[in-house]
Amino acid sequence: MIYAAIPEFLAALPAGTRTPCHGRGDLFTTTATGDDDPTAYAKALCAACPIRQACADHAIRRGESDGIWGGLTPAERAKRARPRPPCGTDAGWRSHFLRGESCLTCREAHAERARDQRLKRLAHEHEHAERGGSLTGYRLERLLGLPTCVRCRAARQEYYADRPSSGKWYRRAAA
Ligand code: SF4
Ligand SMILES: [Zn+2]
Ligand SMILES: [Zn+2]
Repeated sequence: MIYAAIPEFLAALPAGTRTPCHGRGDLFTTTATGDDDPTAYAKALCAACPIRQACADHAIRRGESDGIWGGLTPAERAKRARPRPPCGTDAGWRSHFLRGESCLTCREAHAERARDQRLKRLAHEHEHAERGGSLTGYRLERLLGLPTCVRCRAARQEYYADRPSSGKWYRRAAA
């Protein structure tokens, strides 16, 4: 009954509800026995817990070295306790991604980096492609939400003109 001793957990729980680990303290220690795989069972209970994140945060903050907290084993908590890369960086975005977290700052920064990279590739296409435009350039312009340029449109038209069967959909779209 881990939660019973922690007032902040009780405050976060909807009135009259209990956490899935209520009465199953035996499953939430590293020496738990009785079930085939007590760790997996405890993790499955935590997965349905409404205060899972608060529980994991609490255990990490307190450096709890024993038992399952918030669905995490001691080794998993130790991993998460390592300093996190700052939000807004590529490493920050990856670290959220690996944990299944959602962070607006990192998502926006990631989208901006992806856009910068596409803009650079487009500039490269315009500079180096034969006749100053290419099918790749056309696709990048569409992805970036930019007006397509006459040279990239011409390159695309040329590309599909050489491939009459694969150009069917293109001709339909262009009609
Ligand atoms: S996350 Fe798991 S250990 Fe924590 S309160 Fe919920 S059921 Fe109990
Ligand atoms: Zn972030
Ligand atoms: Zn172009």
